[in-house]
Formats: sequence, structure tokens, C-alpha cells
Amino acid sequence: MNKESKIYVAGHRGLVGSALIRRLRSLGHNNLVTRTRHEMDLMDFPSVQNFFSREKPEYVFLAAAKVGGIHANNTLGADFIHENLTIQNNVIKSAHDAKVKKLLFLGSSCIYPRDCPQPIKEEYFLDGKPETTNIPYAAAKIAGILACQAFHKQYGDTFVSVMPTNLYGPNDNFDLATSHVFPALIRKFHEAKTGGAPTVTVWGSGAPKREFLHVDDLAEACIHLMHTYNQPDILNIGTGEDISIQEFAEMVKDVVGYEGEIVWDRSKPDGTPRKLLDVSKMNDLGWKANIRLRDGVASTYQWFVASLKTA
Ligand code: GDP
Repeated sequence: MNKESKIYVAGHRGLVGSALIRRLRSLGHNNLVTRTRHEMDLMDFPSVQNFFSREKPEYVFLAAAKVGGIHANNTLGADFIHENLTIQNNVIKSAHDAKVKKLLFLGSSCIYPRDCPQPIKEEYFLDGKPETTNIPYAAAKIAGILACQAFHKQYGDTFVSVMPTNLYGPNDNFDLATSHVFPALIRKFHEAKTGGAPTVTVWGSGAPKREFLHVDDLAEACIHLMHTYNQPDILNIGTGEDISIQEFAEMVKDVVGYEGEIVWDRSKPDGTPRKLLDVSKMNDLGWKANIRLRDGVASTYQWFVASLKTA
């Protein structure tokens, strides 16, 4: 992949896609192709086929997906499985037909068995049942990985799959009904501070542990792999460190400068108890995460406050 290579980022307005675009641009890539949902519906196979045969991108980052937090996943399973299977099927087949040089598919750490040993090694893939709150989403991502591997095996396509841990950063979804815990807590503590609320309600018991990766670190990892990695074997991308939801809530509270109390709503699900990725393969391939969690909370909080002013 060089500066003139034609690169298509599917999902360029989302958390991951927008980070990829920022990073590719800053590296001097000047032949990026994007389409808004209005310009091309990734759910519509003829439109996607037509786009690929006309534009003939050489490299594809497949970052378009329907994503959401524990509540959205638990209640909108039909949408998650249907939309993700359709989008990835359309893009993967079209990329194959258009003979792209390489495609990188964004999976998720939720594909792994819920109760597997920690930290999670890539080899645990398909060794057990994923966490039930997000099984339709996990099933779609599992199918995406298997599709990439099958196209590699049957046709020799260079379709690579990566499994990022829980991501955060600019352009995240801050809607409390559908978001992940990271943006939800930024918003909740900010609104409680500015509104003078005495308490903030955080879901579950606080005991589950999560690993959080800044999306700019992920973008760097994906671009590094686009240059260096051609194997069908999946790769974990994370920091290698996790934190309990309780400790995380205290951290966000502190960064935001909120002085009230945290209340735990135990009627909400905890989800998987832990999903810490083993990132030694990525480290061996020459990448490691750079952005410390507290710095990432602070910069994402600043971004969120700025976005309220421009909204
Ligand atoms: P998960 O990693 O797929 O479980 O997705 P989430 O990021 O949505 O949730 C992670 C953990 O944070 C779960 O244990 C949630 O119950 C907990 N959590 C605490 N407060 C919130 C909140 O306000 N929103 C969300 N989405 N999760 C929360």
C-alpha cells in the first residue's frame, strides 16, 4: 500500500472508520474513497457490486457495522445479526469480484467463548459459546471471520481479520440507550456535573472487567497490518490491560470533576465477567498501544464537550 493506492474505508463516519481516515490522511494517503449511506446503501448488493466494479479500490477496510452497547445488543438482536451479516457479505463478495489486493475485516473480542481463560488467545476462537447478551452480533462477526478465511482458502484472497477490544474515542455514540459504557459514563458524569445532580447511576455490579483501546491506536494497528500481514489467522488488538467497571467509573468521575455519589443499578446486566485480550501476537508483529487510559478519557471528554458546542 503506497500513498497513491486507492483505499476504500467502509463506514468512514463511524468510530473506527473516521479514525482510519484521520490516520491515513495524516500519513499522506491521498486516494481515499468513501461513500455515505445516502450515496451507497451497503445493505443493497447491486449497489455495492456496482461501486466496486466502477471504483476498483485496491485496499479495503471493512469498518461498517451496526454496533452498540450491552442494552442495544440485548434487545435489538435481529437488527444486529441481519444488518451485519448483510453488510459484510455484500462487501466481502464484491471485494472478491473486483479483485482487491487486500481487505481488512473488523471483528470484535465478543466472538470469543464467554468463559475462556484470560487473557484470551486467538486460538480460543470457536472453542465455546459467546456471552448471551451479544450472541447475535458475535454470530455475525464470527461469520465474517469465517467468510474471510474461506475466500482465502478457496480463492487465495488476502482477507485479514482483526479482533479489537472495547474501543473509544472521537465520533463514538453517546446515546445512553444504545452506547457502550465508555461514552455513556462520560455523558452521565458530565450531565450530572453541569446539572448539579447528587448521584449518577451506573449499570450492573461494577465487578466486570473491561479492556479499553483508543481508536487512534486501533487505526495505527490496522494500517500497520495492511502493510505487513497477509495471513487468514485472526489477530487480537488491545492494550493487554483491563480495569473493573467500578474503577473505570471512579476514573471518569475524577476526570470530569464530578463530586456526587455513584449508585449501582443491579437490575441491569453485567454481561461477560472479563474479556482481556492476549496481544502478544500483535506485539510480536511490531505494534503496541500507546495511549494511556486516563489520557484517553481526558481527551475523549474534551472532544465530547466540544461536540456539544457545535451540535
Ligand atoms: P459489553 O462490553 O459488550 O458488555 O458492553 P458495554 O460497554 O455496553 O458494557 C460494559 C459493562 O459496563 C457492562 O457490565 C455494563 O453493565 C456496564 N455499564 C455500567 N454503566 C453502563 C452504562 O451506562 N451503559 C452501558 N452501555 N454499560 C454500562
